[in-house]
Amino acid sequence: MSRRALVTGGAGGIGAAIADALARDGAEVIVLDIDPDRLAAYSAATGRAGVAADVSVHDDVARAVGAVERAHGPIDILVNNAGIIRDAMLHKMDPADWTRVIAVNLGSVFNTARAIVPGMRQRGWGRIISLSSMNAQRGQAGQTNYAAAKAGIIGFTKSLALEVAGKGITVNCIAPGFIETDMTASIPNELRVEEIRRVPVGRAGQPEDIAGMAAFLASDAAAFVTGQVLAVNGGQYL
Ligand code: NAD
Repeated sequence: MSRRALVTGGAGGIGAAIADALARDGAEVIVLDIDPDRLAAYSAATGRAGVAADVSVHDDVARAVGAVERAHGPIDILVNNAGIIRDAMLHKMDPADWTRVIAVNLGSVFNTARAIVPGMRQRGWGRIISLSSMNAQRGQAGQTNYAAAKAGIIGFTKSLALEVAGKGITVNCIAPGFIETDMTASIPNELRVEEIRRVPVGRAGQPEDIAGMAAFLASDAAAFVTGQVLAVNGGQYL
């Protein structure tokens, strides 16, 4: 049976690789992204539908999910991938950067799940996969906002997993280590080199490394895996 997936922040980076992997496994993939230009280029290149929305805005997400479900049908697989960083040491952090990072990385997970979980419960099947981070598990100087948001996703995941475990819905998160994307390209070069040097497998992660785990979690084979944090970090944090 063909399933339908919504991947937030899916127009680039890890999200685009997850979209590819889910499509390879037979899902109809719809991508949601805040960046209309990136979205248009993505849809032109892949032929996949895209919907523009800001995941941090509850009503915008509800509108986008409603439009997707009317145009395509119910969403079976939700991938909460959209995320941002606004790094600064706490004593210099702008309160707006605290609020924005929490809203985009953590508020988003409530907004999408709130719109999609009721239908999953009715249909008795669903997969929810959210992108946490290795830095939520180990901490990272300069990322109190980001690490707090990504750690929040872990608590959210475990709690929602318990709520829907009897309804055929699994809820898991992936905690990636250092993955080469536009997000990590913005990190100063000497810090990037040092971070990659510390990865035991001896290389930076690629978006496809995360996509493989997401595709597994979305599959029927993962029906007994729920409420988990799957670390995909090349052995950097054990
Ligand atoms: P990226 O910056 O390359 O891509 C993020 C995508 O999200 C972009 O297409 C962007 O337009 C979209 N986006 C940003 N804000 C949005 C919003 N408000 N509404 C909708 N879409 C929005 O990032 P990435 O490296 O591919 O990261 C993907 C996810 O993985 C993020 O949640 C990130 O925090 C997490 N993660 C990444 C790494 C890494 O090393 N790259 C490590 C751990 C976790």
